[in-house]
Amino acid sequence: MYFAELASLFDELTAYSSRLKKTDIIADFLTRASEDDIEIVCTFLTGRIFPAWDTRDIGVAGKTLVKVIANISGKSSEDVIESYRDTGHLGITAERLLEKKVAMSLAAFEEDLTVVELYRQFEEMAATTGKGSAQKKQRMLANLLSRTEPREANYLVSLAMRNLLIGSKEGVTEDAVAQSFGVPPDAVRRAWMLTNDIGLVARIAKTEGFSGLRALGIEPMRPVRPMLAQNVAGASEALDVMGGRAAFETKYDGARIQVHKVGPDIKLFSRKMEDLTEALPDIRVAVKESIHADSVILDCEAIAVDNRTGKVIPFQNVLNRIRRKYKVRELSHQIPMQLRPFDILYLNGDSLVDLPFVERRALLEKTVVPLDGRCKPSEFKILDDPEAVAAFFTQSIDAGHEGLMAKDLNADYSPGIRGRKMVKLKETLESLDLVVIAAEYGHGRKAGWITSYELAARDEDNEQWAPVGRVSSGASDEQLKELTEEIKPLIISEHGRTVDLEPQIVLEVKFNEIQKSPNYASGYALRFPRIVRIREDKGPDDAETLERVEALYRLQFKLKGATST
Ligand code: AMP
Repeated sequence: MYFAELASLFDELTAYSSRLKKTDIIADFLTRASEDDIEIVCTFLTGRIFPAWDTRDIGVAGKTLVKVIANISGKSSEDVIESYRDTGHLGITAERLLEKKVAMSLAAFEEDLTVVELYRQFEEMAATTGKGSAQKKQRMLANLLSRTEPREANYLVSLAMRNLLIGSKEGVTEDAVAQSFGVPPDAVRRAWMLTNDIGLVARIAKTEGFSGLRALGIEPMRPVRPMLAQNVAGASEALDVMGGRAAFETKYDGARIQVHKVGPDIKLFSRKMEDLTEALPDIRVAVKESIHADSVILDCEAIAVDNRTGKVIPFQNVLNRIRRKYKVRELSHQIPMQLRPFDILYLNGDSLVDLPFVERRALLEKTVVPLDGRCKPSEFKILDDPEAVAAFFTQSIDAGHEGLMAKDLNADYSPGIRGRKMVKLKETLESLDLVVIAAEYGHGRKAGWITSYELAARDEDNEQWAPVGRVSSGASDEQLKELTEEIKPLIISEHGRTVDLEPQIVLEVKFNEIQKSPNYASGYALRFPRIVRIREDKGPDDAETLERVEALYRLQFKLKGATST
């Protein structure tokens, strides 16, 4: 299939806003896609280049694309940035500037670009690292773009930037796969949640139908999307949600780690599904010694503990440890890490995700043999009395943890879902994890640093970033320096002290209140926001949605009600 055909599909999808219409269009298109193309087409449709579980990244920065677009369109980088300021989207900028060039230099002798060829080129970019790799990728992109029509260039750039605005995120593509191949939408959803690979699911739906989909499941060494938790206002609400009785566990303040083990091989994945195996040698050793299984997938929290006091060290340090992958040994002495497995998803060849939580917990306790403090199952109690929950909560806070998690004893494990099978109780009004979409340099003593950040939540309805405020307080000098360093490669354009950014960095911010506000496109604004930490473990896909900002806006009234009575 030619990439031009896929671009026509994208054009058509952009033209309609109705979800049903989009589903029809994609379903019709998929019936015509070959077995070779369908995996790539469906993954591209969800705005990704590689499957969600796949840790590869083409590693192309916005600035590189600006250069390439300038090069191909015969404009200067300043012209590209000027246009970008107007369009707000590098793909659209590419299309506009290339249109002006009137196909003059369209390499007439080159063969048209196919979907498979584009995918192979992206794979090669992901594999290109080290010295000279930036230039090589620039050349590859320039070559690809010189072979495309302006509108194809738009979509190619959008894919490279992970910013495809065609409204076909997972839900729509899922429904289209079901419709196209006559399989139940629930079967597609389940297979997609378990495999984390919509392309694979589409291919199996096409070639093997319903029975093929049923046979798909989780597999060790392929990271699973973590199940997420909603917030509740207190012990009583937690018990209400869970039907009066639930499992309560310490909520550790660490980093989520998924442990995969097959025989002697162990892999550790972050919440963003990055491979952290090399960065956490002591966790690897602890897993080896304490996990008694041939093959297993465990959902865990890794915490850092001060060797002398035995106290938990704050989360930021956990991440420093994970981040500084290259100074691993040195740091494992400074910040020893411990593992708290809290769920088990796979054991000795069997998927456990459909078992009730209480049965998974029993298997977890059999499989994880506590190794002093280094590796032991999360602290766990079944409770039905709000006062007992409140006492456990206080005990957890006093020990330096974040609060409690409550879990439905009968619930299955739902990868990637933020539902009410697992809820969290924290001490303060929830903080929010938001994406930095623009920023500003400071002045005076902080002149070289980026000190103010525009924050946005994900608006899932229109796939845009919805700004909810600016934050400029709460960060230490150390954190500001770190943020400045991380932000610089993400700058797409600068005007005065302000910079526009690729939306990559996630900040956790606290605030006094969420207010309705006409000043921000989201309709909401944070009152007195302050930075708590840089969420190194989260990417833009993990940022809060506008829907959740709205939910928290409503929840804060409940919380106020709860504390005033
Ligand atoms: P949050 O990051 O605030 O959405 O809270 C959910 C996170 O708490 C999970 O992603 C885990 O990383 C973490 N967590 C800590 N302790 C537990 C536990 N016992 N069970 C489940 N999640 C936990």
